[in-house]
Amino acid sequence: MGKVLVIGRGPAGISASIYMQRGGLEVTVVAKDDGALSRAEKVENLYGLEKPLTGREVIQRGVAGARRLGVTFKEAEIVSLTRGASGRGFLTKTAGGEELSGDAVVLAAGVARSAPSVPGLSDFIGKGVSYCAMCDAIFYRGKTTAVLGAGEFAQHEADILSLVVGKVVLLTNGLPSPKIEGRYEIYTTPLQAVTGDTRVRHVQLTDGSELAVDGLFLAWGTAGSTDLARRIGAIIKDNHICVDEHMATNVPGLYAAGDCTGGLLQIVKAAHDGAVAGLSILKYLHF
Ligand SMILES: Cc1cc2nc3c(=O)[nH]c(=O)nc-3n(C[C@H](O)[C@H](O)[C@H](O)COP(=O)(O)OP(=O)(O)OC[C@H]3O[C@@H](n4cnc5c(N)ncnc54)[C@H](O)[C@@H]3O)c2cc1C
Repeated sequence: MGKVLVIGRGPAGISASIYMQRGGLEVTVVAKDDGALSRAEKVENLYGLEKPLTGREVIQRGVAGARRLGVTFKEAEIVSLTRGASGRGFLTKTAGGEELSGDAVVLAAGVARSAPSVPGLSDFIGKGVSYCAMCDAIFYRGKTTAVLGAGEFAQHEADILSLVVGKVVLLTNGLPSPKIEGRYEIYTTPLQAVTGDTRVRHVQLTDGSELAVDGLFLAWGTAGSTDLARRIGAIIKDNHICVDEHMATNVPGLYAAGDCTGGLLQIVKAAHDGAVAGLSILKYLHF
């Protein structure tokens, strides 16, 4: 019996888990919260609804149905996704440091996190502003880099950078400082602007100070689907994970479903993607 990890308990993740559990796989769904639907006040465009439900009610029903079938649920934020030790299967790490493994993974973590709106920031994406420490740290060997973020995800990115770069500073853009005494210089003052020429050179803070940086890594909020996918080598286009008609990414065993794959950002489409991904994994692991 294969073991599958599903990241996300929105309609895509739940739908995938139901198909795989019914197909005889051992399925664990890991999610940090109820996702996009937790913000939906009234859902009434779903087949089979006699009256509108809140987004949370939709999720609760989905989770309860999957749990009844035997799906295991874990409440945790995933901060990294890598290949298993032998190069087979996958290993994920939670913000609490727990490692979870799977023979296959469904990424159903919704749309990517957004970066805060800071003048100049988006102008330097790919010119010193990066979304992926694991991918780009090597380009900053011995140099000064800043990580923009204040949560577990930002700390994880800073830890990866610190193995390679000369110096890491953490910029929380006004959010409280995380309790990580002594590991990095931390600036909690909000950002005024990101400046440079052909590349990023400085970060200006609202107190008038300026920090010279060679690279700026975005780790705002939590790791979204595209962040996790990018790190393991999945192809991303226009901030969406590229999948084929089986919801397979270019990484064998890694599937993606729902909002993170783009297209119609609606429950029905996410549920459809999840079902296709689940059925594809059944074939992938059984044949
Ligand atoms: C305000 C609002 C109202 C909406 N109303 C409707 C509507 O009426 N009808 C409709 O069809 N659609 C509606 N939508 C759209 C719908 O919510 C989405 O299309 C749908 O939820 C996408 O499902 P998903 O499973 O892809 O992602 P999501 O539902 O966003 O689920 C993502 C899951 O991934 C988890 N996750 C993310 N990152 C991590 C991580 N690093 N570690 C662990 N877990 C993680 C989240 O906790 C969550 O469980 C609405 C959206 C919003 C924002």
